[in-house]
Amino acid sequence: MSTDPYAWITQSLETIHRADWYRSLKSIAGRPGATVQLQGRTMLNFASNDYLGLAGDERLIAAAIAATQSLGTGSTGSRLITGHRELHRQLEQAIAHLKQTEDAIVFSSGYLANLGTITALVGSRDLILSDQYNHSSLKNGATLSGAKVLDYAHVKMADLKHQLEQHRDRYRRCLILTDTVFSMDGDLCPLPSLLAIAQQFDCMVLVDEAHATGVLGKTGAGCVEHFGCTGQPLIQMGTLSKALGSLGGYIAGSAPLIDFLRNRAPSWIYTTGLSPADTAAALASISIVQQDPDLRNRLWQNTTQLKQRLTEKIATWQGFPDSPKLLPSASPILCLQVKDATAALTLAAQLTQANIFAPAIRPPTVPTSRIRVTVMATHTAAQLQQLVAALG
Ligand SMILES: *Cc1c(COP(=O)(O)O)cnc(C)c1O
Repeated sequence: MSTDPYAWITQSLETIHRADWYRSLKSIAGRPGATVQLQGRTMLNFASNDYLGLAGDERLIAAAIAATQSLGTGSTGSRLITGHRELHRQLEQAIAHLKQTEDAIVFSSGYLANLGTITALVGSRDLILSDQYNHSSLKNGATLSGAKVLDYAHVKMADLKHQLEQHRDRYRRCLILTDTVFSMDGDLCPLPSLLAIAQQFDCMVLVDEAHATGVLGKTGAGCVEHFGCTGQPLIQMGTLSKALGSLGGYIAGSAPLIDFLRNRAPSWIYTTGLSPADTAAALASISIVQQDPDLRNRLWQNTTQLKQRLTEKIATWQGFPDSPKLLPSASPILCLQVKDATAALTLAAQLTQANIFAPAIRPPTVPTSRIRVTVMATHTAAQLQQLVAALG
């Protein structure tokens, strides 16, 4: 009897369709910005991670073109063999300067930075404590490391401490993993308390600053700076592909840590160096973040304004059953929680009708359905008002 060993894939896709979990691609044309061309329509963009509007910035584009002209399109090899350029080192030094750390290392993506670093730091004799809402790259890095992985309740430091009391002494090393800005909620990890607990139980800490770099902190260094924790012993991961408008990821920390990763992180050693264009664009955006605090101020003005208007709007619905609720946020990620997945899809469709692009996020990605809105520095007051008006 011959069977088709691939038949299960079609069946599996059917199951995904039946559960209403099927996802497909939508093409965006032209340069990214506060408005985008989505399937032939001009839409107001509240779905981007490009918080500062730098992905379409002339200065980044010029830097990427110049680097391509002088260094070519590809890095041609891994950093340790033929792929290393002086430009990579300049970028790593710029990140270390922004973060006020001894050194930094650049990976081809934030996802690879987390996979490579976690697997290099811990193994089967070790313990990982991970916030239950952590990003997929932290969770998969933890699994791949072979360490014992325990989740603690979202931002609940008492639970983290309790689990360490129960389990810490049976393991060699311990690594605590957390997003600093939680990507699907917009709230922050309580970093000072977390660092105190880590010290008490002799744990390493890796913080994921993907949504905080360029956004939080006086100089845009991130949540670590926001909480006044600069200079404390911890491992800071981040991405070049959100507020910094390019592509790639990084780890910033002590010189021995970075040196160790250059020798032990497989997703850095065995992959091609970042392209000259991406490297140069990221370098240009870090210098903009450091020299133009106005851009960050505009982002926060917009965030405060939108939050206030949404709160006012929601107040007018008081008394209606199942009216949307604004989830607690301390970042440009604002979420309107609704009753269920159907309500989220209905509201997202209503926004699409009004030419507003803000996605419905549903289980299993998050525990409760919501519309997720991200604010940009380049949104105008009128555009923010348009979103509020469209909520009806
Ligand atoms: C986007 C994101 C990443 C992955 O970064 P990429 O550079 O896009 O691979 C990691 N962690 C968090 C929290 C993210 O939001």
